[in-house]
Amino acid sequence: MIELKLNDGSYILHPTKIICLLRSYAAHAREMNNKVPEKPRFFLKPPSSLLESGGMVIIPTGSTTVHHEVELVVVIGKKGKEIRYEDAKDHILGFMVGLDITARDIQLEAKKEGLPWTEAKGYDTFAPVGNEIMDAHYHDWRSRSIWLDVNGKRRQESNTDLLLWPVERIISDLSHIMTLEEGDMIMTGTPSGVGPLVPGDIVKAGIEGIGTLEIKVATRKVEGTGMEG
Ligand code: MG
Repeated sequence: MIELKLNDGSYILHPTKIICLLRSYAAHAREMNNKVPEKPRFFLKPPSSLLESGGMVIIPTGSTTVHHEVELVVVIGKKGKEIRYEDAKDHILGFMVGLDITARDIQLEAKKEGLPWTEAKGYDTFAPVGNEIMDAHYHDWRSRSIWLDVNGKRRQESNTDLLLWPVERIISDLSHIMTLEEGDMIMTGTPSGVGPLVPGDIVKAGIEGIGTLEIKVATRKVEGTGMEG
């Protein structure tokens, strides 16, 4: 649960689920040697992976390769099921910037074995978000530059116009699988330029006119020893 700024007030972000798109920018699908899917495809992250901007992403003990993925996040404002494309806009509360942090080594292992990605995507702190939601009544998701810097160096830079499917289509498709609840978050997938994070890195990311976020990266301290583990 995270308190965010929305217009002149505050909003408590408390999703029942975080739904994530995969391979939704062609350049990212290509850099991972994957085919571009014919329709939006999804996986889930648990709400316990949320992290406020200013927080610390913790590299888990079981992973040596944790990647950043900057993404446009859609927050649902109104519950819905089987939402039509033309009604999808009415179900959006607003937009924010987020990171889909990924334990790439665990994910590659899972892919090889044909197993789900839950472990690779679901660790605590693996879903940092900005501290502001831009109200969908006044802001559109289209034609926004989206970027991510690690230690001041640009790693990812693209534009939301390169999303393979409009946000409205994504909402409609999703809502034919599962009921979307108020507060649910959709991470719409990352553009190309994903790469590893190491302890001590400072990551800044943003979407033009939507918001920014900043996080630090650390390893987990083994309790009682003062050592990293
Ligand atoms: Mg992603």
